[in-house]
Amino acid sequence: MDHSHLAANWADVRHRVDEACRAAGRDPAEVSILPVSKTFDADVVRAAVALGLRRFGENKVQEIRDKSGPLADCGIAWVVIGHLQTNKAKEVARLASEVQSLDRIELADALHRRLQAEGRRLDVLVQVKTSSEESKHGLSPDALPAFLDSLAHYETLCMRGLMTLATHSDDPAEVRACFRELRELRDTAQAQGHDLPRLSMGMSGDFPLAIAEGATEVRIGSAIFGRRPV
Ligand SMILES: *Cc1c(COP(=O)(O)O)cnc(C)c1O
Repeated sequence: MDHSHLAANWADVRHRVDEACRAAGRDPAEVSILPVSKTFDADVVRAAVALGLRRFGENKVQEIRDKSGPLADCGIAWVVIGHLQTNKAKEVARLASEVQSLDRIELADALHRRLQAEGRRLDVLVQVKTSSEESKHGLSPDALPAFLDSLAHYETLCMRGLMTLATHSDDPAEVRACFRELRELRDTAQAQGHDLPRLSMGMSGDFPLAIAEGATEVRIGSAIFGRRPV
């Protein structure tokens, strides 16, 4: 299969991210891109590896399992960005380098036990629900302070920051409000002594707004890999 579109898409996305940084008065070096390879198979990911990409976001553990075997030689860091059931903790502890969708204590508990067994640690971001959409997962903003306090007990989970998905809306103000809320929650938590340098927010359709509100990482799928089969 021909994957030549990937190089052009990747260059275009990096350019647009840099432009959004400049428009926001930020240094482009502050914002990284997490390519989201969900639904694309191992061959496509390998072509992205050839462009120098090494971290990939996936929303299903099953897909990480399927791709990590054939790509074992690539040194990929797999990042879980989708809703995670506790019965997947064992595989996550074995295969992933990071979880951005940590949203409840039972999951932290399950991951911790499995990570202890594996002798590994994971970087984690807490997913916060900043949108009122029923379909979106995440911890309620009110519950964040207590949740962060309880996570401090799990030495296998390295807390790095917060993640969110914005409301799906044509109104940029509504979308931006979600990103602003996440940044403000982070700022409050930092003032309370939590070290949360990372804000993972923004996708192909809304990343300039997220960058304007302080994203340190944008999760980009379709703008790099193309439209996903539905
Ligand atoms: C699919 C997905 C993305 C990327 O979405 P695009 O619109 O294709 O860029 C980002 N974050 C999460 C949590 C996703 O599930």
